[in-house]
Amino acid sequence: MFIDTHVHLNAEQFNEDIEEAIERARQQQVEKMVVVGFDRPTIKRALELAEAYPFIYAVVGWHPVDAIDCTEEDLAWIEELAAHPKVVGIGETGLDYHWDKSPKDIQQEVFRKQIHLAKRVKLPVIIHNRDATEDVLRILREEHAEEIGGVMHCFSGSVESAKESIALNFMISLGGPVTFKNAKKPKQVAEEIELKHLMIETDAPYLAPHPYRGKRNEPSYVPLVAEEIARLKGLPLEEVAEETTKNAINFFKLS
Ligand SMILES: [Zn+2]
Ligand SMILES: [Zn+2]
Repeated sequence: MFIDTHVHLNAEQFNEDIEEAIERARQQQVEKMVVVGFDRPTIKRALELAEAYPFIYAVVGWHPVDAIDCTEEDLAWIEELAAHPKVVGIGETGLDYHWDKSPKDIQQEVFRKQIHLAKRVKLPVIIHNRDATEDVLRILREEHAEEIGGVMHCFSGSVESAKESIALNFMISLGGPVTFKNAKKPKQVAEEIELKHLMIETDAPYLAPHPYRGKRNEPSYVPLVAEEIARLKGLPLEEVAEETTKNAINFFKLS
């Protein structure tokens, strides 16, 4: 059994065939999926899906790229939703310095506010980091995020920054990029970081693993991520599937 710990079945790319995509995932033993909201419409949709399917859970939060659009009302709404029994985390939040729609200081402010929120509702934080590792780790330290812990989703950093994250009570989640031939860093992380700190995800519809790179990603591809981790670690696929599933169930407290 596998769990896709970060998937956007709530994105419009799944409007046409969501039921088929879920069915294909289930046929590949992807038995649970965590759907991550990142703005108003996708948060609503994540909750709809979590209510419609017993094996789907929701994470609610505001994406750093759109931090400039996030209002106090939005944060209050997210905090209210956190009480929902199928909401298992706050995010995705974090910093994204690749895009400049939201200035850095606003991204950092909205990130800090979501860490505070997560601490109040006692849920882990789901971190999106692009080109901002130093600031992400600094803010997590300053805000004592280790009290709630979280996950570095679709981790693409170095082994060293993975270890720094683990020291802060964070999990490392690997996605499609670990299967890319030229992806040195994620492969090193998969080799060197102990399985007990790892989870797997697709981040679908983005970042499809090899051999689907460049196409629409979907949750039925998450076993390809586990296969590559198993190959790199020299372990049986079953062990990687079992351990990463156990990690996800404990981390998100899934029933
Ligand atoms: Zn992300
Ligand atoms: Zn995402």
